[in-house]
Amino acid sequence: MSTAIVVGAGIGGVTAAVALQRCGWQVTVLERAPELGEVGAGISVWPSAVAVLEELGVKGVEKASVQSRPAGMRRPDGRWVVGAPDLGMELPVMIHRAQLHDLITAEFGPAVTVRTGYDVRTITQDAGGVTVNDDLRADLLVAADGIRSAVRSALYPQYKGPRYSGFTAYRGIADVDLDDGGGETWGRGQLFGFARLIDGRFYWYGTANQPAGTTSEPSVFESWHDPIPRLIAGSEKILQNDIYDLTLPLVPFVQGRVVLLGDAAHAMTPNLGRGACSAIEDAGALGRHLTSATLQTALAAYDAERRPATTKLVKRSRGLGRLAQTANPIVCTVRDGLFAVGGKLVALRARK
Ligand SMILES: Cc1cc2nc3c(=O)[nH]c(=O)nc-3n(C[C@H](O)[C@H](O)[C@H](O)COP(=O)(O)OP(=O)(O)OC[C@H]3O[C@@H](n4cnc5c(N)ncnc54)[C@H](O)[C@@H]3O)c2cc1C
Repeated sequence: MSTAIVVGAGIGGVTAAVALQRCGWQVTVLERAPELGEVGAGISVWPSAVAVLEELGVKGVEKASVQSRPAGMRRPDGRWVVGAPDLGMELPVMIHRAQLHDLITAEFGPAVTVRTGYDVRTITQDAGGVTVNDDLRADLLVAADGIRSAVRSALYPQYKGPRYSGFTAYRGIADVDLDDGGGETWGRGQLFGFARLIDGRFYWYGTANQPAGTTSEPSVFESWHDPIPRLIAGSEKILQNDIYDLTLPLVPFVQGRVVLLGDAAHAMTPNLGRGACSAIEDAGALGRHLTSATLQTALAAYDAERRPATTKLVKRSRGLGRLAQTANPIVCTVRDGLFAVGGKLVALRARK
């Protein structure tokens, strides 16, 4: 039986393990953290990623999620820039990260072994396989070890890697009673968004421009429209993460018997809400290619499919992040005006 090591048990790593298991591989997942799990935040999962999870046999994602509805965009004082135009587009579902992670790992069968508290420090490969920490060996290694991937650094020591976007993100889950459909509010250099979860609580996120490495509170949103201050006050825990993406061009996702997947390959800013979805789609593609071709051909096909697709997303997400985070008052006025006109045109077309 073919064997694989998956480094990292984030959403990308655990989905890869399920995909490899379905192809008949014996999989060992190595996770540095003492236990499996995900952070306390929500996550949007787009239909393409839900479809991959369903193909992989991961059940119940839609049941545990809230279907997003068209949501509008407001100004910090609460005035609508644009209502909730129905663009006729597919929208993501919103789910708690831990729930999504649990649904995926629930599919682990006897072919998947998980070792937590295992830090991958070295990898070496030869014609016959890949060795980790001079300890474990397998036919294939999938590096799903996140944006600061040690495996990627070992393969591509010259690559610059993470690039600071200029903004930090706050996230929380609020236990508040609200009658508000959610949506986003864009200010000058700050953005806030929220959406309902299946258990009635609300997932919210906010971003603010600041130098990397600054610990701060989301106090800038205290003067923003209702229910924003209530959402922040109603959250037991607030996460703060500086937002990085990966330097372009991305490095090849395959070198010999080692594959990069998820943020290790293509970390993007969260503006499109597609980072984890892309990791899920990577895992689906890897499994699909491995079932239909020899190892080297399958890995080449994986790189050829996933690198261009995710490069586009990294670029689009970065561009949207720049637009959302601009603090220039003239650019903000023009931006909001264009959104308002765009929204009206869409509404007009929908009425016709
Ligand atoms: C504010 C914010 C909001 C977001 N919202 C969305 C959203 O709505 N929708 C969406 O699709 N995406 C979203 N994303 C992006 C998404 O969170 C990531 O793209 C996704 O979590 C990446 O998953 P991953 O498994 O590739 O990496 P990670 O989640 O980073 O997992 C990597 C794992 O590898 C482990 N690890 C690292 N190094 C080692 C080592 N040497 N040895 C062993 N284990 C190791 C880590 O402990 C970790 O568990 C958001 C991101 C942020 C910051």
